[in-house]
Amino acid sequence: MRVLRLRGHHSPAELLGWERRTSREKCNTEHVYEPATGRVLCHLEPCGAVEVDQAVKAAKSAFGLWSKLSGMERARIMIEAAHIIEARREEIAEMEVVNNGKSITEARLDVDSARLCIEYYAGLATTLAGQHVQLPGGSFAYTRREPLGVCVGIGAWNYPFQIAAWKSAPALACGNSMVFKPSPVTPVTAVLLAEVYAAAGAPEGLFNVVQGGQETGSLLCYHPDVAKVSFTGSVPTGKKIMEMASKGVKPVTLELGGKSPLLIFEDSDLENAVSGALMANFLSQGQVCSNGTRVFVHKDILPQFVEDVVKRTRAIEIGDPLLESTRMGALVSRPHLENVLSFVDQAKKEGASVLCGGEPFVPSDPKLKDGYYMTPCVLGYCTDDMTCVKEEIFGPVMSVLSFETEQEVLRRANDTTLGLAAGVFTRDVKRAHRVVEHLQAGSCFINNYNITPVEVPFGGFKMSGVGRENGQVTIEHYSQLKTVFVEMGDVDSLF
Ligand code: NAD
Repeated sequence: MRVLRLRGHHSPAELLGWERRTSREKCNTEHVYEPATGRVLCHLEPCGAVEVDQAVKAAKSAFGLWSKLSGMERARIMIEAAHIIEARREEIAEMEVVNNGKSITEARLDVDSARLCIEYYAGLATTLAGQHVQLPGGSFAYTRREPLGVCVGIGAWNYPFQIAAWKSAPALACGNSMVFKPSPVTPVTAVLLAEVYAAAGAPEGLFNVVQGGQETGSLLCYHPDVAKVSFTGSVPTGKKIMEMASKGVKPVTLELGGKSPLLIFEDSDLENAVSGALMANFLSQGQVCSNGTRVFVHKDILPQFVEDVVKRTRAIEIGDPLLESTRMGALVSRPHLENVLSFVDQAKKEGASVLCGGEPFVPSDPKLKDGYYMTPCVLGYCTDDMTCVKEEIFGPVMSVLSFETEQEVLRRANDTTLGLAAGVFTRDVKRAHRVVEHLQAGSCFINNYNITPVEVPFGGFKMSGVGRENGQVTIEHYSQLKTVFVEMGDVDSLF
């Protein structure tokens, strides 16, 4: 195991107007941990009202400059940022691994997704346009797509760098500036993104990072100069964000949790279906909002499916996330690991059968003995009323359920207040489209799972969220429409 030390420019500083700030009063600092080893990685000082205000002021001043640039000029800087990310790919990915615990293979893909997202929106920055509407007598109206102002991004800990890019790229493309608050659990790589934008030539203060948790987040949501809040995190926090934003009638984007269903029909290509179920449950140690954790398998293929899925789950290599061969690293924190393991205990009590995994895991490398590892778990004989089937576990725990008919499985799949994603495996093309039409979920996959190309909108139905990230539609969530009427004749006055 290589031990990466945080160098000066990797510390979770605030980046306000391109100025790095760390220590003020050393009073209420919080520990930040390395999940792979359990060591304290660094300390974080939560930003208070003064720093939040400075960040918003810096962003407001940058907005004045940035919003006046042409789309082409903004695109040029964003493309440069993408090039810098490409050049720093390995360094950023390693920092993500050290702070988050996911495998280096996955962290590289996250960095690539961040880069692609910035490239994609750089392209769209040049295409923002309105509509021309002809009116009687030669008069006309036109619409302009204008930026909102200072946007706030608040991130979760599971995809720290990627979330910061998925929020900032469309915001900046539309001419907004941003203040971003990463999760206090994973505060490091958002600072690297701020450095990237600065190095790419963005105006000072265009993308600021403030550090902290709930209080810092609330200060951002209530700040009168903030025009919009884009949040990724849990449903309970999402509700609070919506409530706080409502005080200032600010639009919100909410990317929240899920308990998504994956439907595997009897005519599926079984090997692909098993691969899909693994992708739907074990990426990022199962800490993925869109995971398909309720795996409904047709009863005719259930025995073979279970045999194959357990065999392949047992073969997943767990351990040092910086090693190329590792496929499952450490969960994000000790309390989170304990919470996930308690879901497995609860499942056993409620009658589910642990087909494999669900135990704490201690890697053979002594440096990793205090890391937050567990063996990926498959639960069999699950029923719809079990806690493991109803609640988001956010860890590597797959619940397998049996079904007999399409109508029955659709009813059971939709029987949840959440609706982030859903998947279906079948060789029958008509059934595939019929089923997705009836699935109540924002992102549906046919014969695959958990792929998120940045060109495609991503987001939830029901309590899984509001708005979308990625794709063209997100431009609408980071801009506002101005309508301009132009009179070519005389005013037809009623007075
Ligand atoms: P969380 O809701 O605890 O925290 C998310 C962020 O909100 C953190 O930055 C946190 O500091 C901040 N926050 C907490 N309370 C706040 C408040 N009162 N005001 C303002 N900010 C506040 O979520 P988490 O534990 O970091 O992440 C896990 C959850 O996120 C899971 O439920 C998961 O499904 C969800 N998630 C959703 C998506 C998606 O795209 N839909 C992606 C990743 C994670």
